[in-house]
Formats: sequence, C-alpha cells, structure tokens
Amino acid sequence: MDAPAQVPSGGTILIVDDMPANLEVVTNHLERQGYCAIVALSGEEGIERAEFVRPDLILLDVMMPGLDGFETCRRLKASERTLAIPVIFMTALTDTTDKLAGFAAGAVDYVTKPLNGAEVLARIESHLALYALRRQLAEQNAQLQREIAMRAEIQEALQRSNTEFEQLAYVASHDMQEPLRKIASYLQLLSQRYQGRLDADADEFIGYAVDGAKRMQALINDLLAFSRVGTKAKPFAPTDCNAIVRTALMDLQIAIEECGAQVEVGELPTVMGDATQLPQLFRNLLSNAIKFRRDVAPRIQVRAQPSGTAWRFAVSDNGIGIAAEYFERIFIIFQRLHGRSRYAGTGIGLAICKKIVERHGGQIEVQSTLGEGSTFAFTLPGV
Ligand code: ADP
Repeated sequence: MDAPAQVPSGGTILIVDDMPANLEVVTNHLERQGYCAIVALSGEEGIERAEFVRPDLILLDVMMPGLDGFETCRRLKASERTLAIPVIFMTALTDTTDKLAGFAAGAVDYVTKPLNGAEVLARIESHLALYALRRQLAEQNAQLQREIAMRAEIQEALQRSNTEFEQLAYVASHDMQEPLRKIASYLQLLSQRYQGRLDADADEFIGYAVDGAKRMQALINDLLAFSRVGTKAKPFAPTDCNAIVRTALMDLQIAIEECGAQVEVGELPTVMGDATQLPQLFRNLLSNAIKFRRDVAPRIQVRAQPSGTAWRFAVSDNGIGIAAEYFERIFIIFQRLHGRSRYAGTGIGLAICKKIVERHGGQIEVQSTLGEGSTFAFTLPGV
C-alpha cells in the first residue's frame, strides 16, 4: 500500500570529536560511500552545526573538554530542531555504565574506539533506515490525525445541519398545519356545497385544489413526524413488540381487509426502545408492504431473532420488489420510485424508519427481488 521508507543515499553525517585526526579512517570510508561528513571539534560547536545543518545522523564522542558527549546529547534532545536526529556515541570505554548513560542521554547506539569503518557504516545505515521509517510513520500518523480531525469536523457540521433541518422542518410543518387545515376544510366545503352548481370546469378546478391540499397535509404530517424523531424523542424503556405490532395492524385494518392481506406475526421480543416511535416504525413498514403489492393478495411476515445482545427483525412481503440499485436510495427523504398516480405517498416513511432505528443504535436495510417481494431487516437493542 505505502511506499517503502526511503533511506537517503548519501546523507549528511555530523561527527563531533575534539580529535578529528583519529577519525580520518571513518570520514574517508563514509565519503567513499557517498555520505557527506561534517566535523565539529566540541560539544558546543556540534550543537550549533546540528541546528544549522540538520544532519541525518550524529556521531558523538563521549570524552571531550567542555561539554562532554552526554551533556551535548541531552541538549540536542532538548531542542525541537535537533531532537529527532539519531545520535550514535563513539566511546573508548568498555564500561557498561557509560554506555547506559549514553542511552539515557538519548543516544540510539554506540560504537567503540578504535573505530572500524565497515562497522560504523553498517550501524549508520541501519539507524538511518530506522529513522526514515520512523519519520514515515510519523508523517502517516500526522496525516491520519489530520483526516480524523477533518472527518470529525464534517460529522459535526452534518450533525449541526441535521439538527437545524429538523428544527426548521418542525417549526415550518407545525406552523403550516393550521392555515392548511383551514384551506383544506373550506375547499371541501366549497366542493360539497357547490358541486354541480357552477360549471364543469369549476368542479374540476375545485377537485384539483382539494386533492392538492390533501397531499400537502400528508406531506406536512409526515415531515412533522420525521422532525419529531429527533426533537420529541422519549427515553428508552422495555417495550413489548407483540403489543406494538398488534396496534400497528389495528391501525391498518381497513387497508388489510380491502386487499385481503395475510399477515403472519412470529413471537416477538421485548426491546429497549421509545414506545412512541416503535409503532411508527412497524406501521410504516407494514403499510408499505400492503401498498406496494402486486395483483395477488399480499402475504406479509414479521419475525425476530436474537443477534448478540440485540434483536434482528424482518418484515417481508411478496410485493412488487425493488431493484438492487435503489436499496440505499429509498431510505433518503423524499426519494420515491413510483409516480403518485400509481402509489400514493410522500417518500418520507422509510426515512423516518431509518431515523428511528439509528436513534436506537441499530441499522436498517432491504433485500429484495424485483417482482417477487422485499424484506426490510433492522436491529433494535435487547433489554
Ligand atoms: P412512500 O411509501 O411514501 O413512497 P417510503 O419512504 O415509505 O415512501 O418509501 C420510499 C420508496 O421505496 C417507495 O416509494 C417505494 O418505491 C419503495 N418501497 C418502500 N417499501 C417498499 C416495499 N415493501 N416494496 C416495494 N417498494 C417499496
């Protein structure tokens, strides 16, 4: 996936030693391998050069007059500009305490004097590779952090705009209800009282207006229901889904009888849920199962089975079905697959279902075969 960490071919190595003559073998060796070797003769000079040149690695002598190697290393590690540069100690000492002191000061390794050119080079290369890897990791990490922060920002903005939309939808639909009710009832009065008393055109026009007002009422009611999922949410309590489905079926009794639908309901569990929202969820799914029927009597099943600590419900029908490319789209508000003349509706029902299920920490999805039927499956938390 990612490009391998690049080891700089011929990086810059800063050598800090008060007796650089001893180091000729090493510098020659490094330069032959394409490295640029810079020499500083004291700890102070080493720090200055490191800050200025920003070498890829520092070879640091332990015993120097003035600042010794340990203190030099500590200061390099204390500065933002040089702390990431790997430091290798050069020591004549075989004493373990000194080596440990070197590591404690922030060194990554040590080499012992008299230096062996090939060994020094091998260590330098392995630390440069490690350093490059570390830098790459740090860059990837920073990139990831940036992405996470960006996503969090987007999520927050989305949340804000959702809440604003909900509030707007609530206020607008709530305040529109009353004048709309007035328009609808006076139009109905007009149509009842003057039907056949004006000319045919007038009857037709009033009919359109009544129909428009009814559609607008359905839309406003659904929009209000949609916005209420967020704005009028009730706390969760153990809720018996058998009772909920029974009530939903009673609400739909006329439609069920009209089309001769057979509804089979399995044993349903008690879930942790909002008792005002769950009936809406089942009612919307059941009414769609009845509405989007073929020319045979609808057969509808409601089932539930445990899924971890949650319950997975399925509402299946033998209706017209949905093409796979619309499986996601139908849950978006106002998205409908059919004209109003064929199937009445506002395109809000499934958006409400999705919102209710997600508020309960669950997920909803559809599986369907066009012309054969659909199954809407969703999860709700157990008690
Ligand atoms: P509405 O029912 O008001 O059209 P919904 O949001 O409930 O809006 O459904 C969106 C669309 O998904 C419907 O218009 C229909 O095309 C499709 N749909 C929903 N339920 C079913 C179903 N059981 N069988 C076939 N199509 C369905």
